[in-house]
Amino acid sequence: MTSLRTRHRLIRRLREQGISDPQVLSVMEQIPRHIFVEEALAHRSYEDIALPIGHGQTISQPYIVARMTELLIADGVPHTVLEIGTGCGYQTAVLVALGCQVYSIERIRPLQLEAIERLNTLHFDRVNFRYADGAVGWPERAPFDAIITTAAPSQVPQALVNELAVGGRMVIPLGLDEQQLCLIRRTTTGIEQQMFDAVIFVPMLSGIR
Ligand code: SAH
Repeated sequence: MTSLRTRHRLIRRLREQGISDPQVLSVMEQIPRHIFVEEALAHRSYEDIALPIGHGQTISQPYIVARMTELLIADGVPHTVLEIGTGCGYQTAVLVALGCQVYSIERIRPLQLEAIERLNTLHFDRVNFRYADGAVGWPERAPFDAIITTAAPSQVPQALVNELAVGGRMVIPLGLDEQQLCLIRRTTTGIEQQMFDAVIFVPMLSGIR
């Protein structure tokens, strides 16, 4: 159920759905997604679905992880990436496997601690973690070449735009009831915004828990 063959099948399905970036497909083929979910759900971990990870949160559907990552690295793999919403750490692992220096913020402490332990066990151990409300970003470490949020605010937090390097990309789900993936590019003169797939994400909440 959690074998390499099941993982290959998932990658084949992602390809059929239009994911074409060889680096994204290759790292997702390598990362054992079943380690990121509860044991009781491990047998469903290579289906293309979101799954609960506790505390009312979910691990994103593999297609969405692939799609967001593809958009994030379309101009080349960014050196530094700020991630808002560590959750179980699966997206974090994808970014580390691509070679990014990841700064990851989570507002639910138990989820963060589990993710740190899991990522260390899997030797994805070059990540910088912060327990905070990610809407303000991580100004001490800014600017970032890329920013990805895996929780949806209703509008792009201005602090995150400010922390994006010129030439950098941000991929963020936006909206309350109806959400869409949004790609923001910071140029020398301002920002460019493009909308993509309709998505369903947990909301970006303020404060820590
Ligand atoms: N990429 C994660 C997604 C988890 S769901 C995964 O695949 O597991 C979204 C996560 O964003 C949750 O863990 C939630 O606690 C976190 N989150 C929501 N609002 C946040 C905020 N303002 N700052 C930091 N994390 C936040």
